[in-house]
Amino acid sequence: MIIAEKKPLPEVLGMLEGSSEVLVLGCRSCTAICLVGGEREAMETCEALALHSEIKDKGWKVRSLTVERACEREFLTPLNGFKGTVVSMACGVGAQVVQEHCPDARVVPGVNTSNMGAPEGTGTFVERCAGCGDCILHLTAGICPIARCAKSLLNGPCGGSQNGRCEVSPDTPCAWDQIVKALERQGRLDLLDANIPPRDWRPSRNGGPRRIVNAEASPGDAQRRWREGE
Ligand code: SF4
Ligand code: SF4
Repeated sequence: MIIAEKKPLPEVLGMLEGSSEVLVLGCRSCTAICLVGGEREAMETCEALALHSEIKDKGWKVRSLTVERACEREFLTPLNGFKGTVVSMACGVGAQVVQEHCPDARVVPGVNTSNMGAPEGTGTFVERCAGCGDCILHLTAGICPIARCAKSLLNGPCGGSQNGRCEVSPDTPCAWDQIVKALERQGRLDLLDANIPPRDWRPSRNGGPRRIVNAEASPGDAQRRWREGE
C-alpha cells in the first residue's frame, strides 16, 4: 500500500489563503490504513480548519467528504463541478486524479506521500518496494534489495553490516543480511554464486512517467474508460 504522513496543520493552513469553500477529502484506501487520511482524519482536519476559520475570521465554509478510492474517478462523482479548495487526505496519486476530475478546483495536499510499504506493528509502516518495474524478488528470497538496502545494492552485503544491522542506520536491519539468512533457510544459497547483473533501469522511474496497459482489462473497466475519455 502507499504510505503517507500528515502534513503539519500550519503548512496546510498556509495553502488555504484566499479560499472560501474548503472540502477536506478523505480516502478509505491506503491513507486510511496509514491512519492519516481516512474518514476520521478528514473529519478531524475539517474541525481544525473550521475552528481556525472561526478564530481568525477567515469566513471559510468547510466540510469533509470521504470516498472509497480517490485515485479512481468513478468514486469522485460527488465532487462533480466543485470549484473551491480541496484538501486532499489521499496520496499524491489521489490528489492528482482529484485535480483532473475537478479542473476548476484548487487541490492542495493534506499529507506527504512517502513510499510503498507495509505495516510493521501498530502505527509503524516500512518501505517494501521502490516500483522498479522489473521485479527480482525470486533472486533475493522475497526481500527487496532496492527498497530495503540503504544503497540499493543488487549484490550485497556491502561489508558495513554489523550484527545484522545496516551501517547507514543501526535502527534498520541490513537487507542483505536478511536475504542471505532467508536464502540459507530456503536452501537457495546457490543463488549467491551468480551475481545479479547490472539492471536495465528503463522500466523504472528513470524513463519518465510509466504507463501500464492491461490488454486483458474488460471493456467495462473503469480506469480504461477514463483513459480513453469515455
Ligand atoms: S525488485 Fe523492484 S518491483 Fe520488486 S519489490 Fe523491489 S523495487 Fe519492487
Ligand atoms: S549494511 Fe546492508 S542494508 Fe546497509 S547498505 Fe550495506 S548491504 Fe545495504
